[in-house]
Amino acid sequence: MKAPALPAAFGFLASARPGGGRVPDAVFATRGSRTDMDTPLRAQSLTATLVHAPGVRPDAAQAQDTDTAVLLAGEFYNRAALRSVLPPGTEPDSDAQLLLQLLHRYGLHAFRLLNGRFAAMVSLGHRVLLATDHAGSVPLYTCAAPGEVRASTEAKTLAAHRDPRGFPLADARRVAGLTGIYQVPAGAVMDIDLASGKATTHRTWTPPLARRIMPEDEAVAAVRTALDQAVAARVPSGSTPLVVLSGGIDSSGVAACAHRAAGTLDTVSMGTDTSNEFAQARAVVDHLRTGHQEVMIPTADLLAQLPYAVWAAESMDPDIIEYLLPLVALYRALDGSARRILTGYGADIPLAGMHREDRLPNLDTAVAYDMATFDGLNEMSPVLSALGGHWTTHPYWDRDLLDLLVSLEAGLKRRHGQDKWVLRAALADALPEETTRRPKLGVHEGSGTTSSFSRMLTEHGVAEQAIPEAKRQVVRKLFGLTVADGRHPSEVSTDEVAQSVADRFAQGAA
Ligand code: ATP
Ligand code: MG
Repeated sequence: MKAPALPAAFGFLASARPGGGRVPDAVFATRGSRTDMDTPLRAQSLTATLVHAPGVRPDAAQAQDTDTAVLLAGEFYNRAALRSVLPPGTEPDSDAQLLLQLLHRYGLHAFRLLNGRFAAMVSLGHRVLLATDHAGSVPLYTCAAPGEVRASTEAKTLAAHRDPRGFPLADARRVAGLTGIYQVPAGAVMDIDLASGKATTHRTWTPPLARRIMPEDEAVAAVRTALDQAVAARVPSGSTPLVVLSGGIDSSGVAACAHRAAGTLDTVSMGTDTSNEFAQARAVVDHLRTGHQEVMIPTADLLAQLPYAVWAAESMDPDIIEYLLPLVALYRALDGSARRILTGYGADIPLAGMHREDRLPNLDTAVAYDMATFDGLNEMSPVLSALGGHWTTHPYWDRDLLDLLVSLEAGLKRRHGQDKWVLRAALADALPEETTRRPKLGVHEGSGTTSSFSRMLTEHGVAEQAIPEAKRQVVRKLFGLTVADGRHPSEVSTDEVAQSVADRFAQGAA
């Protein structure tokens, strides 16, 4: 089985019920083709709308036999290992087929084996399984009631048709502002009894809590090997990968490994009229000799796309939206056919890259806190790039690499006065020294997003000290409009929302 250039499906809206049914019409933020599927089984039918890249065969996202049907959005990265545990002679020709065979062998514990970026729905006898990858990197939402389980990779498609009274589901995350809709936790499989709607949730992964002591050179070599493998698993042979490159250590490291794995590489950098990191990215481009593109987005256009960022991320966290907005603007600006995009996103969480002081206790507090609270923020959601029709994948959150990075003792992460030291050392032979020594600069800083968003609110009359709360309210309002109420982001004006928040502050102050 050859690794496909793109996953068979980016997302889905599906319904499982006895006797079959229809999936309601839905508007996805994901751009692409849509295909409807109906899989009748003995005890229930699984009906779905799949969203996928044009030209990709979506039937590879589905697999079935007499009693079981599998629906898969996304992909696996440890296929060879997974295949090695199947009986000889079984040759699954898609990730959905592979999952079906693993389910026969291991039951729902099959999900404990997977290193991937996926959301899955499985109809199994009288039960329905809903599963996320270890990081919950493809968000999965559900509303279930006795007799029907609906699930979707985008909450908005469920919100449009939900029963506002809701039906309670144990162990799942309530979605604020969307009564009756729940998010399947990261690294979990929910086992739902179709007749009663009762669910049991099994965790399939938790972040490592212990820390490993390793000699410097061993840790450096282990990080390099794991990063090389994580990147190689995300680069199908025969295609040119694309890396979104800032010139920071995280994305430059991915670019170096991707170039090595594929023998060729395209890169793209975004900047605004306020701020950019073009020169720093250029140092890496010249070193690796990549096919490079610079995308300049005027700040006014960037801020106007806030409704799109919230619509895609389905997150109410204003900090996360600030990180994601410049990337959303970049993905939407990439025209042409669907691309597989690798990012350096997420390395700072296990390595505490945002930690800018030498004291180690605080560093590990930051790692433990972030690893305990990432779920539900949707930072890694594929919908962000799917707005532009593209598929992203994030090697630093590969399950094996993440396990390693989280578990390294804090002194390997902050050393010789440098943040992310072990990663910088691991890439010393692959990148220019100016790149490996560059201090961290967040995407929200390098693009001027944080300061531009603040300035816009100030111009609307919000006082300096009220800006963080005003940002929270703008994001919350955009979530209400685009996700809960189903307004298309093209009909929502950032300026008008900012003005209404500013007016409320002015009234409160009066
Ligand atoms: P560092 O954390 O050391 O700055 P980094 O810039 O690669 O490294 P982040 O700042 O955390 O990482 O940004 C997250 C990811 O978003 C990057 O790894 C990169 O893939 C993408 N990214 C950030 N800024 C840009 C940009 N200006 N152009 C293109 N992609 C970007
Ligand atoms: Mg950066």
